[in-house]
This record gives sequence, structure tokens and C-alpha cells, in this order.
Amino acid sequence: MASTTKKVSELIIMKHHIIQGYIQYIHLIEYDHGCLLLDGACRADLTTIQNFFLTTLKRPITDLKVVMVTHLHPDHAGCVASLKQLTQCMVVTGTYTTPWYSGWRGRLAHLIDMTLAIWVADRMGKKRQNIWYSPILKEDIQLRDGEVVPEFEDWHIINTPGHTDRDITLVNSSAKLIYVADLIVSVKNQLCAPILVCFPEQYVYSLKRIKQYIGYTLLMAHVSPQTLENQQIDELINQAPTTPRTNMRTLTRIIKGKWLNYFAFK
Ligand SMILES: [Zn+2]
Repeated sequence: MASTTKKVSELIIMKHHIIQGYIQYIHLIEYDHGCLLLDGACRADLTTIQNFFLTTLKRPITDLKVVMVTHLHPDHAGCVASLKQLTQCMVVTGTYTTPWYSGWRGRLAHLIDMTLAIWVADRMGKKRQNIWYSPILKEDIQLRDGEVVPEFEDWHIINTPGHTDRDITLVNSSAKLIYVADLIVSVKNQLCAPILVCFPEQYVYSLKRIKQYIGYTLLMAHVSPQTLENQQIDELINQAPTTPRTNMRTLTRIIKGKWLNYFAFK
């Protein structure tokens, strides 16, 4: 776990806490007036988040005011329903029309994604935990590209699809922070595209978009923070997949044993 303090303005101080979650980092932003989760974590992270509020922040869990959901994968949306029930927090997504896991194909994709998450947990040496969550997310508000986060106006979203069709990135221009969720991961200490890239053209578009934030601190779901550099993004663009990498294709490859050494999470 790590915490840093940033001065957003003369009056506003924020603390950025990085908590080790079940299979991903949990980015919690703390202000006097309340707390913001940059993503919806895994169902298995509920106790971790509760304990962090209780023992580290020494604040009631009801100080969690807003939970962002960057996309619907188990380590980004899995804890949302439990947190909502516990805190009545506002659940915020980007804009979409159709649920990501709609129809029988969607339900199958949901099961495959949970299987992949369990596979990642096994690879990380984590104990098996229940990570089931509803495939249908009930958000309170959808934000459009460029809109600010309610109650946390120093944060806004930009659309960065590619990993899925609805991924969003969170930006804080005052503190020079950018949280890209799964847009970028790391294998063997090298930044790279995630294992799933459902929409390759949109993915490259999204990488080009974040080039306007060079020099910002790059926050990711599976990699420690680092400064966003032009050269890194150019390399990612050059190496970006040109054909879709879907969860079914990934699962097939795992079963065939080709990806057994793929992940090298920090
Ligand atoms: Zn994902």
C-alpha cells in the first residue's frame, strides 16, 4: 500500500491511496468532504476496503461517496453492488446503451471473464475466493466524454475504448493524475496492451488520446504508478494488436497452455 498527498488548490488537499486488491490495485482518493474510488474492484475486495476505512483512514465507510466503474470486468465492477448496499455511494460509468454482458452471449462472456479472473488469482498465488457479481450493473449516472465527476469536480472522464467498448479514463488536471484502468498493463516490466483488446482500432485511438497527458502520473489497475512518457505510448501504439483479442480466444489459448507465462504482475 502507498499513499501520496497532493494539493489540488489553495483550499483542497487530496490523498491518493493505492491498496493491494485481490488481483488489481485499488485507487482510493480521499478528501475532507468524502472519498472517491476510481474503479469498482473485485467482490473479494469488500473486506479490504472496509478495513482500510476503519483502521487506516479512521473514517466511516459511508464517507465513500462515489464509485467509478471504468468497464465491466470482474476486477473493476465486482464490488460495486456490495459497496452501494453498504454506503449508498453514487455509482458512475461512461455512456453506453446496451449492457456489456447482455443476452446469452453476454452471460457466457461474463462466466469466461470470471474464469479468467480466477486464473489470474491462481497465477498470483491468491487463495480462491468468491468473485461472482451480477452481470448487469445498475449505475446512478452515466457521464459523457469530458464531464466532471459529481462531488469531485477536479476529476473528469475521457472515453478510451478498445479493451472493451466502454472503457473510460479518469483525469485530474490539477494533480496531474491519469487513471487508465486496463488500457495499459505490464509483462516482464514492459508496458503493453492488455490480454483482451476487443476493438483494436479504438484501442489505438485511445492510446493516441492519452498522449496529451505526457508528464502526468500514470495510474493503472495492474501496474505501479509511473510518469507517462511520449516514447512509451509510441511503442504501445506501434505494438498494438491489429486483430481482436477476445476473452474466448484468450481462454482457448490458456487451455492450450500458450499463455502460461504471460502475466508478470507487480
Ligand atoms: Zn478489464
